Amino acid sequence: MRAVIVGGGIAGLSAAYALNNRAEQAGLPLRITVLERRDRLGGVIQTDQFDGFVVEAGPDSFISTKPWAVELCQELGIAGGLQGTSAQRRVYVMRKGRLIEIPRGLTMMVPTKAGEIVRSPLISLLGKLRLGLEPIVPRRRDTGDESVRSFVSRRLGGEIYERLIEPLMAGIYGGDGDRLSLKATMPVWHEWERRYGSLTRAAWANRAASNGSGSIFLTLKKGLGELVRALAEAMEGGVETRINTAVAEILPRPSGFTLTTEAGEKFSAEIVILAAPAYAAARMLAPTDSELAQELGAIEYSSSATVSLAYRKADVKHPLEGHGYLIPRHEHRPALACTWTSEKFPHRAPGGSALLRVFFGRSQGESIWGEDGDQLLSAAREEVDATLGLRAEPLFARVFQWPRALPQYTIGHLQRVGLIRRRLVTHPGLLLAGAAYGGVGIPDCIHSGQRAAEAAMAHLGRIN
Ligand SMILES: Cc1cc2nc3c(=O)[nH]c(=O)nc-3n(C[C@H](O)[C@H](O)[C@H](O)COP(=O)(O)OP(=O)(O)OC[C@H]3O[C@@H](n4cnc5c(N)ncnc54)[C@H](O)[C@@H]3O)c2cc1C
Repeated sequence: MRAVIVGGGIAGLSAAYALNNRAEQAGLPLRITVLERRDRLGGVIQTDQFDGFVVEAGPDSFISTKPWAVELCQELGIAGGLQGTSAQRRVYVMRKGRLIEIPRGLTMMVPTKAGEIVRSPLISLLGKLRLGLEPIVPRRRDTGDESVRSFVSRRLGGEIYERLIEPLMAGIYGGDGDRLSLKATMPVWHEWERRYGSLTRAAWANRAASNGSGSIFLTLKKGLGELVRALAEAMEGGVETRINTAVAEILPRPSGFTLTTEAGEKFSAEIVILAAPAYAAARMLAPTDSELAQELGAIEYSSSATVSLAYRKADVKHPLEGHGYLIPRHEHRPALACTWTSEKFPHRAPGGSALLRVFFGRSQGESIWGEDGDQLLSAAREEVDATLGLRAEPLFARVFQWPRALPQYTIGHLQRVGLIRRRLVTHPGLLLAGAAYGGVGIPDCIHSGQRAAEAAMAHLGRIN
């Protein structure tokens, strides 16, 4: 029997690794093949290492409160390389071009320390008074989905949304809070309103859980590419990985599927785990199930880009005390955020140098996207010049563009995923994994791959 995994990002690799282990444990002879369109594995996870620098092209860390990434690192024997963010955890948000520290004591982004909010110049007096009224704002009666913006403005006030929550959410989804689904992106807020009737009361009750002194974000010293490398190494001999192999079409056949690549090669498999982006999965499945393809194709994606800039420390006059800053939409800048990478993570730049990373990702910046990345580079340099006063020539610059790489969980996302799952039942052996469905973060993507592997084993058990 054969299983084909389409897409060699973290979800597809986690699925292949878990399936290989489970099949071996069960003594089930199973040929597992990963087909990846690009010329390398890892999907949006990509680390470049040179001259003592560790440059992350895509994600730079993951949340440790969801266990699957840490557990996978332990299983692969690379947990010794895990590290948290540096203790200097200040993060700033831009307001009229100036950087203001984000008030401390946020629990799931909700302020819990009254003193911090009262003193913060980020929020106006009116905004603070409005926030103080949150506990008496009535629960919403309608249980349907709503946008993140509508929810936060309703409960915490429009100013908190615009000046604090919007830039924090954009840093994760690179998207538009007017359209992001509350239930799919921040289910905990929905639950808090339902259970406690107030986000402030709920955040208070739950603040102990997030008040630990450790960092909730972890990374690997040599970069997240290490996780991809370790996974690929652990699968050697058990899983065949084929790069430069794009799947064009998946058709059903008795007790399985036939996959055809763009080069015309065919693979037959009892199990297909589709771990490519939803729009790519939609194209592959269109001839087999147009309804399923339509729902998959309706999951929107946003494009993002990162520009890493390295400088001699002596050229950086700004103290860079913290992890970086976020730029709210109403500042009308093309960038979304700037991470002070060498301050946030130790070991990312050699002594005497500073590494910064400017993150782009919303539609208003579209005019700066282009094949060669020159305009993104100029926009990144303008950003660090305007905000940090950095005019020196960088030691080097690296531009990475990620077209349609971040799924947007727009209003109604959970309903759409429910429909997709119901439709999938009619294609036994066909499974989905990846960022498009139940969480965009690395731990969720790993978990989605593991769950697909479990479902694959269950299906193989039934047909064997
Ligand atoms: C710039 C950026 C920064 C991020 N930062 C963070 C972060 O700091 N922390 C965090 O937890 N998450 C972060 N994320 C999100 C997270 O990294 C991703 O959601 C996750 O890595 C996606 O994994 P995946 O395997 O689902 O998809 P992908 O990594 O997109 O992998 C899908 C793979 O499918 C392949 N493919 C596509 N079409 C075909 C085809 N026809 N045939 C074969 N293969 C195909 C693609 O080439 C790709 O390799 C970030 C995302 C981006 C884009």
